[in-house]
Amino acid sequence: MSEQKHSGLALHWQILIALVAGTIAGVLINPGAVELPDEAVSVAIAVSRDAGSDERSPTIYVDVRDPAGLETVRRRFHSEAALHDAFPGLTGDLLNAEQTVDISVTQRSVVITETMDRISIDYSRRHNNRPVTSSVEVATADKLPGHWQAIYAEHGGGVRRQLTAAAKYGGDLFLRLLKMITVPLIVTSLVTGVAGLNNTSRFGAMFSRTLLYYLVTSLLAITTGIVIVNLVRPGIGADLPGGTEAVLVGGDQSLFGILLGLIDNMIPTNPLRALVDSSFLSIITFSILFGVFIIRTGGRAADTLREFFEAAFAVMMRLTMAVIALAPIGVFCFMVYATASQGLAIFGTLAWYMLAVFFGLLVHAAVTLPLLVRFVAKRSPIAFARAMSPALMTAFSTASSNGTLPLTMTCVEERAGVTNRVSSFVLPLGATINMDGTALYEAVAVLFIAQAYHGDVSLAQQIVVAITALLASVGAAGIPHAGLVMMAIVLQAVNLPLEAQGVIIAVDRVLDMCRTMVNVWSDSCGCAVIAGFEPAEDSTTPVSVAEGAPSGSDSSSEVST
Ligand code: ASP
Repeated sequence: MSEQKHSGLALHWQILIALVAGTIAGVLINPGAVELPDEAVSVAIAVSRDAGSDERSPTIYVDVRDPAGLETVRRRFHSEAALHDAFPGLTGDLLNAEQTVDISVTQRSVVITETMDRISIDYSRRHNNRPVTSSVEVATADKLPGHWQAIYAEHGGGVRRQLTAAAKYGGDLFLRLLKMITVPLIVTSLVTGVAGLNNTSRFGAMFSRTLLYYLVTSLLAITTGIVIVNLVRPGIGADLPGGTEAVLVGGDQSLFGILLGLIDNMIPTNPLRALVDSSFLSIITFSILFGVFIIRTGGRAADTLREFFEAAFAVMMRLTMAVIALAPIGVFCFMVYATASQGLAIFGTLAWYMLAVFFGLLVHAAVTLPLLVRFVAKRSPIAFARAMSPALMTAFSTASSNGTLPLTMTCVEERAGVTNRVSSFVLPLGATINMDGTALYEAVAVLFIAQAYHGDVSLAQQIVVAITALLASVGAAGIPHAGLVMMAIVLQAVNLPLEAQGVIIAVDRVLDMCRTMVNVWSDSCGCAVIAGFEPAEDSTTPVSVAEGAPSGSDSSSEVST
């Protein structure tokens, strides 16, 4: 791997520069939101009552057919009085009604985002002073509802949007490359790692330690989040819409169902299909079992297979390094896209909520985990963080722990000197089930929503939030916005409306970037901690320095630093 060593700037500096340059470029080319004039319009609405809801606090749905024809918005009310309040023109027998009411539509703002093959329109406005948001995505402008074609013709397109689209394409290509190598890398590295253990009972000890680490750090993260929400109280006084119903995939699953689904996922009926579908839990279980049974089988068969997987793993590592050398370009593209497509205005209302999440993540990443690295793994947390920095910055910009996995593995092994035996076990499993950042985020976001609707939240409810946040983080995939999808489960557990997510979605990307970085950092610290328990000759590679950063003298064990 010595050819990976560049004479120029270290990889993590290149990535950092790309990150800053991409942000600046993105801000400069941000086409901004299009503000449309206020209007008073007649809208058609259809009212229906949820038959299952109780008489005294009925759930009434109102489908508002937007005059602009973008989409029908579903709003939920818990009393007829609230319904009349929102639509003063309503008359007669409500439940029979497909009626027309007059409403004022104010503060109309449209964000048009384009990629190479898609046009997305996010439309936010106030209906009779209540905030409503909706969005639509189409392949070409002629597929837009009539009214929107004119708006698109006037405000869409242009060099700025083309640049944004090109940046997104470039970033996606980088992500594709990372995805391409992820499955073969996990399989070869897990089988090599496990089959390399001489004694399976040692592997068993590593397994329980790893699970304990995942559980303890996730709970610490959630506790940090809950303490901070109670101190900052970001939701008190926040004006969240009760209007739009954000329907999220997976939101109707029960917790029990999710747990059973997880267990099902761990036992593939067809390992080849699991490989094809990139079903990580299945791949992990099968690879571990395959490795364990290579040891159990022993003899010539074991030697042949070990040699084969070691060879395949060596090739995969080389390929990975080659892809990773492109990280600065990928990061630049992603940052341009993120900042050019998301205006900064939305950050106002959600500032306290975002601050609470940021602060919680910061405490967990900069205090709790480093203390574990210092006192349990007995390593310098700063040197370890420096060794992990390319992976952490890539996690930040791609918002995907799975996507970052190849880089995380390389950094942990080549720059931080943890053996493949530990990393190939702790990291793939961690990318799938250990998500401290996501767990903390779930807890903070749900309590923020609860505060906004009900004021302060009882201790019992906070405990329910904590447990469900833990499960949601275990179930979340290591892909962008997975935490947001899983949040529906936590909201349901404490009986909060899913509508509230409408606003949170707007700022999810930036929080996703931060929590993904913490997810990856926690997995990496897990490697250091677990390696600390391994016998000395097994826990670090002989050529690497124990304190994290490579010495620079032996390029055979280095990535480009
Ligand atoms: N994007 C996160 C990850 O990949 C998951 C999440 O949405 O919280 O780790």
